[in-house]
Amino acid sequence: MAGLSLIDLHTHTNESDGSFSPAELIEEAVRTGVGALAITDHDTFAGYDEALPLACQAGVELVRGIELSTKLLDRSVHLLGYFPGHGDLEDFRAWVLDLQTSRRERNVRLAARLRELGMDIRVEEAEALGRGMTGRPHFARIMVQKGYVASIRQAFDDCLDESAKGYVYRREPHFTEGVRRIRAAGGVASLAHPTRLVGDVAALLPDLCAAGLNAIEAYHSDHTLADTDLYLGLAHRHALKVTGGSDFHGAFKPEVMLGTGRQGNLSIPREVLEQLAL
Ligand SMILES: [Zn+2]
Ligand SMILES: [Zn+2]
Repeated sequence: MAGLSLIDLHTHTNESDGSFSPAELIEEAVRTGVGALAITDHDTFAGYDEALPLACQAGVELVRGIELSTKLLDRSVHLLGYFPGHGDLEDFRAWVLDLQTSRRERNVRLAARLRELGMDIRVEEAEALGRGMTGRPHFARIMVQKGYVASIRQAFDDCLDESAKGYVYRREPHFTEGVRRIRAAGGVASLAHPTRLVGDVAALLPDLCAAGLNAIEAYHSDHTLADTDLYLGLAHRHALKVTGGSDFHGAFKPEVMLGTGRQGNLSIPREVLEQLAL
């Protein structure tokens, strides 16, 4: 037996947009040798809360995490929050519930808008596909299934894009607010998959750090070795903690393996876990 030697600090369950239930994710961790795992579902701790007793039984160290979509000027920035300690999460949980409510409310308005445009689409249909992470891609899939558009691309171009006729605004927290809330709850705020950030990360980082960012996801399935080196260097320069994970979504991203990423391109050193709790 190889033992549970791997680390993965970025994973999703079916409480957000992954395909594995929390129990299945813990089974997968044991199967693949992941001994330390963070569940970082979008806007919810539900997957973590459910997985915690199962992880204890299985001997997997489970870290409480979350992923937030935030706005920074016109950019969308994903922010990871980790709560390895025993901080008081009451305020943070209430704030996260608020985010879920605003997402749900936007989806109700979006379904109504699409019906106005002549499409027979109900919010429950989208929620059946998207669960806690229901959003425009799920509405787009239904539009394709029902023959209103030929493709997901066309659904966005004709209807769902910000400049299109069906677009309905959703309030997303500002990056600074996301960071502030995570830190106030005793958490570590990490810039998720920085390669996806539009613009020069090195040039943006001083401002992000001034806002309270204290970690960066240097290891990620989308990163080349050169990317990882770049972010490790930036972490060092700005005295940031380093985090890393596969961004596992189960069958929804079958090419990404828990703990080892795409064809083994991910190898997260043990220190990453140790310094997270410091
Ligand atoms: Zn993300
Ligand atoms: Zn993610």
